[in-house]
Amino acid sequence: MLDFDNRSLLMSTCLLALIATLLLLGMWRGLRHQVVGLHEWALGSLMLTAAAPLFLMRGWVPDFVSVMLANLLLVAGLLTNYAGLRRFRGRPVPWQGIGLTLALAASLFTWFKLGQNDFRARTIVGAFYFSLVFLASAWEAHRIRPRSFATGFTTASFLFAASISLLRSASLVLGWDDETRELLDPTLVQHLYLLSFSFTVLLFALGFILMSQDRRVAMWREVAAHDMLSGVLNRRALLETLEREIARSRRGTQPLSVLMLDLDHFKIINDTHGHPTGDRVIAEFARQAGATLRQHDYLGRYGGEEFLAILPDTCLEDAVHVAGRLRTALRPGTGIPRYTVSIGVAQWHSGSSGDELVAAADTALYRAKAAGRDRVEFVPLLQMEPVPA
Ligand code: GH3
Ligand code: MG
Ligand code: MG
Repeated sequence: MLDFDNRSLLMSTCLLALIATLLLLGMWRGLRHQVVGLHEWALGSLMLTAAAPLFLMRGWVPDFVSVMLANLLLVAGLLTNYAGLRRFRGRPVPWQGIGLTLALAASLFTWFKLGQNDFRARTIVGAFYFSLVFLASAWEAHRIRPRSFATGFTTASFLFAASISLLRSASLVLGWDDETRELLDPTLVQHLYLLSFSFTVLLFALGFILMSQDRRVAMWREVAAHDMLSGVLNRRALLETLEREIARSRRGTQPLSVLMLDLDHFKIINDTHGHPTGDRVIAEFARQAGATLRQHDYLGRYGGEEFLAILPDTCLEDAVHVAGRLRTALRPGTGIPRYTVSIGVAQWHSGSSGDELVAAADTALYRAKAAGRDRVEFVPLLQMEPVPA
């Protein structure tokens, strides 16, 4: 038979919970402005850490502390973790529901301590109640997008905790455990229950930390793919997107077109109004152009005052139409001088590379500049076909 000592198990719970909390507090210090939910996870873990020694002191301190306060801190910690999961997922936190759930727990523990002082009844109801909170947390973790190893790990940790709690409740209801009369009784079931609790707190914290790291990497990826001034894709991300879209068109039969857009006489705008105003024009142009394009089109800054738009599923004729709409939609905003744009349009044809497609749009742009600017020109699809050998 396993030779465990329940107080030692609870001692290890205290230490593991403390480590988990220190890790989460450390993460929170560095990432609190970047990862929402981390605050709740650190706070929740702190409550669980505070609850552990109270359980450990069962029999040494009044039951009010080691039963009521300990269980309430435990529930409050788990509900705070749940709130963190909701916030991390970008959903509102149902504080009212959480408050009611906490009040329900308080009444249950009061009843099973003061009304009917029965460890077994308290454990049946308490463990069942915990399993519901764990299941709700597992569900939230499962619905976090994008899915990753971290979300899977967190979901599994909560499912594990829920199964253990359900089993504990069932073991008493179904009579598998006739022996345990008190928290610290040295029965096998109680050993396993306390042992599992000692590392679930750490599992939760690891899940939260992994998810926070995921979010941080995603945020840096986002920053690395965008141009700081205009907020649209930068050149590297833009060309990667073009290659991806060309590969997609190559696999299917959808057309693909691009627009090369260049602000007219931008040097004059800079010289007349100053460089900061020029910067504002670039940002405003990107905003207005982005608003004119469809949701699944891409806009990126190709160079100084030159942009490239990638229009998936769009033939040359439609792309020319989009370009015309974009050109005429430009409006000078407050503090921004009037400006115009020239646009070159080209459609991809099978066999041509991304570079060739961009070069074709550039040729069209050059024609628009030569023809007087503030206009749209295109390369006819026939000229894009490869020359027969
Ligand atoms: P064109 O109509 O032929 O395109 O004339 P242009 O003056 O727009 O073209 P040119 O290529 O001669 O000059 C582009 C100018 O854009 C020069 C450069 O200083 C300016 N520019 C490039 N990047 C930025 C930027 O980030 N901010 C500002 N304010 N100006 C920029
Ligand atoms: Mg220009
Ligand atoms: Mg230019």
